[in-house]
Amino acid sequence: MIPSGLEKWNLNMNHGNGGADKKIGLMGGTFDPIHHGHLVTAESVYENLALDRIVFVPAGDPPHKQDSSVTAAQHRLRMVEIATASNSHFFISDIEVQREGPSYTIDTVEYYRCCYTDDTDIYFITGVDAVVQIPQWKNSDGLFELCEIVAATRPGYPTKNFFRFRDQLPAHQRQSLRMLAVPALSISSADLRQRVSEDRSIKYLVPEGVEQYIEEHGLYKSSRSNAIRVSFFE
Ligand code: NAP
Repeated sequence: MIPSGLEKWNLNMNHGNGGADKKIGLMGGTFDPIHHGHLVTAESVYENLALDRIVFVPAGDPPHKQDSSVTAAQHRLRMVEIATASNSHFFISDIEVQREGPSYTIDTVEYYRCCYTDDTDIYFITGVDAVVQIPQWKNSDGLFELCEIVAATRPGYPTKNFFRFRDQLPAHQRQSLRMLAVPALSISSADLRQRVSEDRSIKYLVPEGVEQYIEEHGLYKSSRSNAIRVSFFE
């Protein structure tokens, strides 16, 4: 069965049947904005773990950013759509954008777990800085049971922090966690937002279509002028 959050992208992009997948990657992030570091990460995990597909899942209302502004979900979703369009094994899910309330990862992984049979492995991929916070997330024990977590590190991130985090986990959770070093992740969304607000170039740091979208919609021009907490679908 194909998860409903994927249907319109599957139809639009004429992709195959997700029901046959044995290994899927869920690429979680706020993607404010998506950049080449995210894309290189997704492609590296796809290749290294021999996945059947990667599903980008932009957070609708990130629970850890309740006190800060995040760009409206329809903009972030559209930029992910533009950035991933040319890759036949990249998909998008709007499940977290459509779901009301904070975007808890456990709810997303549970949803996908229900959509696939037990012999399909699910990998949740995100940045290592987020991964080391997982014990504070909603039902983190359940998350380790339902999926394998892939932590993408960036140059300059002290990997000893990751290993210290991993070593304090119970053995069964350690087995569900791996690290991936991604050189292109020296790009960061925060730096891109800063660059745009200072009228500096983001060329070659994001796909061209994303750069154009940011410019056309005046995103990141002033301090979070496009940031609203109300989603497109509400
Ligand atoms: P964040 O806290 O803004 O970012 C943490 C670090 O990870 C940043 O350096 C970020 O770089 C990087 N990063 C984020 N997504 C990445 C990805 N897919 N691949 C590689 N690096 C990535 O994290 P976030 O993006 O808002 O959230 C990450 C994921 O964790 C989301 O799926 C979010 O829903 C989930 N989360 C869940 C809970 C919960 O369930 N309670 C709580 C917190 C986060 P960039 O800024 O350049 O992306």
